[in-house]
Amino acid sequence: MKNVLTIAGSDSSGGAGIQADLKTFAAHGVYGMSVITAITAQNTQGVFAVQDVTPAIIAQQLDAIFDDIEVAAVKIGMVSQVETIKVIAAKLKEYGAKNIVVDPVMISKSGYHLLNPAAESTLVAYLLPLAAIVTPNIPEAEVITGQSITTLADMETAARAILGLGPQSVLLKGGHLNGDATDVLFDGSQSAYLPSRRISTKNTHGTGCTLSSAIAANIGRGLPVAAAVKAAKEYITTAIEHSLSVGKGVGPTHHFY
Ligand code: PLP
Repeated sequence: MKNVLTIAGSDSSGGAGIQADLKTFAAHGVYGMSVITAITAQNTQGVFAVQDVTPAIIAQQLDAIFDDIEVAAVKIGMVSQVETIKVIAAKLKEYGAKNIVVDPVMISKSGYHLLNPAAESTLVAYLLPLAAIVTPNIPEAEVITGQSITTLADMETAARAILGLGPQSVLLKGGHLNGDATDVLFDGSQSAYLPSRRISTKNTHGTGCTLSSAIAANIGRGLPVAAAVKAAKEYITTAIEHSLSVGKGVGPTHHFY
């Protein structure tokens, strides 16, 4: 079995963050490990508080894993602060970590800043160059590029600009545009449009986390990036179709085994 690591924040309600990642890993038949960057108090209605984990403890979690266990792929999600990002980047470089999927998490659907806006440029400078693939949604891609994105052509332009910041490929997720949710995958030479039907449900909590961890699991199992993305999109589409009405707000996707 392959070992796959998530470096991300904890969601107490189990729908996003570390919990979604570990459920996704289990559903993909890989062994899941976690470095927790922040603890959030949240449920399906919102994020109410965040306690960041100190950079020293993040470094020690990474040392504990990489000193002992072979890591086939890494997913990075919520990273909160400048110093958090710097220590993660330094440790991943020190250990020569490979197959890194960066989900540049910024603001939750409920509107909470999971990344300090002062750390946006640090995320771009320190994490994007390490990424085998980065998976921004449209608002995140707008922050990263400084351009507004309203059409598929804008998405392709943005994907090319983000690739120039260092990742080996970019999956720009189109779910925030109207109509069918078409994602753009660009690997520096080819761009692919990946359409998927829009599913009518309010229960979409943790979809970004789930998609990026499914990509990491698939890459960890040996799939090339494009095939890993295609399979992960099928997984998240089915998981949204079977999403759960847990709680009073935006429920989670369903991790089928
Ligand atoms: N909480 C944590 C810890 C996350 O990492 C993320 C997503 O990236 C979220 C919440 C966001 O969840 P939502 O899908 O509701 O925006």
